Amino acid sequence: MTEPVVEVITPELLLGVARADLISVSDFNCVLHPLAVTPLLELAAAAKASGFSLQVASSYRDFARQLLIWNNKANGLRPVLDANGEPLDVALLSDKEKIFAILRWSALPGTSRHHWGTDLDVYDTSRMDANYALQLTLAETQGDGPFAAFHYWLNAELMNCSRGFFRPFCDGVGAVAAEPWHLSYAPVANVYAAQMGEAIVRAQIQISDIALKETLLENLSEIYQRFIQPYCEKRKVY
Ligand SMILES: [Zn+2]
Repeated sequence: MTEPVVEVITPELLLGVARADLISVSDFNCVLHPLAVTPLLELAAAAKASGFSLQVASSYRDFARQLLIWNNKANGLRPVLDANGEPLDVALLSDKEKIFAILRWSALPGTSRHHWGTDLDVYDTSRMDANYALQLTLAETQGDGPFAAFHYWLNAELMNCSRGFFRPFCDGVGAVAAEPWHLSYAPVANVYAAQMGEAIVRAQIQISDIALKETLLENLSEIYQRFIQPYCEKRKVY
């Protein structure tokens, strides 16, 4: 059997401006890098064997989609949440405060790991009412939250097995809020992450029609160091 090969990663692929050859996985209504498909199916089968029903809320997302999310948040068309997940009044914030508040929960366009096809947000329908509105909040994954049992199982699964998935957004890494539902397929994502750099991001922001652009460019070094770089360094995480 030959070793899987990761394609040459151009800045356009890294930034989500161009799309690699991704695979639609119809059972999970998601789009993933070819090398991440089998590991996802295996993870879902393991979940099923333990009484859970793994579903995918979000997978590949391109730059344009992330730009829309960003601009809607910056322009008050979509809620910006504080550290506890409560909506903030963005009208009361300076432009810099707005940027840092948005970055807690949303990646700067061009730097979302969802651009790579390697990352996905997961949840469990086995303990969820049919009419439950999915939020993807910490509260759902803890205590008496509907996905707490699934995440407890996932903790052990990610720690003990070698399917390649890990949680990039953990407490104590950088300034992004913890997102236990966000999984990343390390064998490919690490290759993408190693290519990331402030200059590539800056060049993309400069040519984009992005809200808060001037303040973003003024503060990009700090943004990069706090919200991007820590997640691009190789580390042992689950
Ligand atoms: Zn995510």
